[in-house]
Amino acid sequence: MAEDFPKAVMDFERRFATDEACRDFLRALRWPDGFICPRCDGRSGWRASRMRWVCGDCRHQTSITAGTIFQDSHLPLTVWFRAMWYVTSQKNGASALAVQRLLGLGSYKTAWALLHKLRRAMVRPGRDRLSGQVEVDETFVGGEESGREGRGALTKALVVIAAEENGRGIGRIRMARIPNAAKRFLHGFVQQEVAPGSTLHTDGWASYSGLDAHGYGHRVTALKGQPPDAAIVAMPRVHRVASLLKRWLLGTHQGAVGVDHLDYYLDEFTFRFNRRNSASRGKLFYRLAQQAVQIAPVPFDRLLRPQPLVPGGVK
Ligand SMILES: [Zn+2]
Repeated sequence: MAEDFPKAVMDFERRFATDEACRDFLRALRWPDGFICPRCDGRSGWRASRMRWVCGDCRHQTSITAGTIFQDSHLPLTVWFRAMWYVTSQKNGASALAVQRLLGLGSYKTAWALLHKLRRAMVRPGRDRLSGQVEVDETFVGGEESGREGRGALTKALVVIAAEENGRGIGRIRMARIPNAAKRFLHGFVQQEVAPGSTLHTDGWASYSGLDAHGYGHRVTALKGQPPDAAIVAMPRVHRVASLLKRWLLGTHQGAVGVDHLDYYLDEFTFRFNRRNSASRGKLFYRLAQQAVQIAPVPFDRLLRPQPLVPGGVK
């Protein structure tokens, strides 16, 4: 299917005025070549009603939203679509409070859950790893550095960042919260997020040693005994990303992000950052909708549960 997305808000409002129109759009994303039964992969289904599809092979009944993040939502698709449009069309995204007001949602909790579900769709399943020359470093987010102690839920979290070098600029990025800067977490992150054959650029921290054994080139800039600014000069890209991330958490989200949910904010930041040069905001909307029909539903109680840090510190 040719990528067909609204270019501006007037176009968006005209196209997605009804739930039916939203559902048709999702159907084209999920079943571009026609119905596929989620149970038996049968392709001979038919539409039994406005919402319901029936598989001709196994008689399984399903809907276009079953098995996606839209499943079991009490919100109309028109509201979901407007939330997706809002978080992708705003340069810095939006807080739950802003979305609650904008969409006239009854509670903050509803807006919060809506945005968190969308964040789950911001990591493309099976995405490529970074490659080429890649800077890697850790930074603390929150805590004393934020200057907002006692205001929000922030306490200190350690975040490891990888940024591709693109000439003097930055290519794609990845980031993850890790429990500490031990070797197994840093190596786990690198192996998950950076393709072997790439050349890593790190400081002289001992936990980064041994990465060459996993197929990576490794350039080390020793910073011990150097002034604090030396790290920024040595690895300008990860430091630029870290400072933008912190500004975003304190600005758009008013420093109210808890460490337990930080991982999903990192996903949102990464989603937007890696598409910052996209010619059209509508294209970001399209990507988000496309990924939203590819990922499983997340019940509300699972949204509330803290994100467990798996070995390696990565998802
Ligand atoms: Zn079937």
